Amino acid sequence: MLAKEIGEFNLIKRMSDILGNSSRQIIKGIGDDCAVINPPSELLQLVTTDMLVEGVHFELSTATPYQIGWKSLAVNISDIASMGGEPTYAFVSIGFPRNVTVEFVDEIYLGMRDVAREYGVDIIGGDTVSSPQVIINIALLGEVEKDCYILRSGAKQGDLICVTGDVGGSSAGLEILQKKLNINGTEKHLLPRPRLKEGRLLAKSGYVNAMIDISDGVSSEIHHICEQSGTGAKIYMKDIPLSAYVQSVANIVNKNPYDFALFGGEDYELLFTCQYDKFQYLQELVYNNCHTPITCIGQILDKSELITIDDLDHRSIPLLAKGYNHFV
Ligand code: ADP
Ligand code: MG
Repeated sequence: MLAKEIGEFNLIKRMSDILGNSSRQIIKGIGDDCAVINPPSELLQLVTTDMLVEGVHFELSTATPYQIGWKSLAVNISDIASMGGEPTYAFVSIGFPRNVTVEFVDEIYLGMRDVAREYGVDIIGGDTVSSPQVIINIALLGEVEKDCYILRSGAKQGDLICVTGDVGGSSAGLEILQKKLNINGTEKHLLPRPRLKEGRLLAKSGYVNAMIDISDGVSSEIHHICEQSGTGAKIYMKDIPLSAYVQSVANIVNKNPYDFALFGGEDYELLFTCQYDKFQYLQELVYNNCHTPITCIGQILDKSELITIDDLDHRSIPLLAKGYNHFV
């Protein structure tokens, strides 16, 4: 059924029905000119927004509407996770072509609903417009204790640089989709799982000095941290955690697996720096609570030092800040 057969208001009603009731005490959700919520009293308010555009961030030929819905909210949750916060309320502004079907819209909202439920988010408003391409902008609120939020700018000389999980899997999956190869393992690209619980544990530990989520690739994120912290850094290529999947995709498409990890992006793992002597404690803390491994991949250096990577032959080379960049 075409959405235009039921009209904008019925379409919004369907979205609201799919999303169901809010899990929090709210004064007014979807259905009025504004949502009305109680501000977090003792906490700081986090606010983030991310936009996904058909043809730039996803293709309808390689991602299902459910996956698009999931990912559009997941990437915002990852931003809250990287601050050490807890996500709360989301607002979804969405544009569809005029000939969109109701079923397509339903599927997008089912994907958003599932990730919202899993991570404790309530979608309580938005806007719906027609647009030549599918476009989704989500604004997400979150909360964090006053002494708990983690910025990119807090890295200190001597800190270890660490990542959760493994990296490169998302862009390896994208390569598989783009080359239309019949290989499983594209979930990390299509249905990313933000490291929310891990981010909370790390932030609350008090031993993490800087944190960022990996949306543009490890190299870009290291540059962001170093730039904002006023430091240099050294990365050890041999220590970058690659899954067997990344290695095998790299073999098949004849690419360097570390390129996926360093320059690929969209892994939505957390990259953070911590006090040298607290690494093992944090590793155990996160593994025991989340079964997520943490790997040390390098160290923060004085600002007089460059950002370099030791390659597999132990040669030190500059780490380029290339990753996905919309304007190059
Ligand atoms: P207005 O004309 O005041 O902008 P709308 O008709 O756009 O009102 O929206 C009506 C209600 O539905 C509002 O509560 C709005 O937040 C909500 N809403 C509209 N579009 C969406 C959407 N895509 N997802 C979730 N809520 C939406
Ligand atoms: Mg509106």
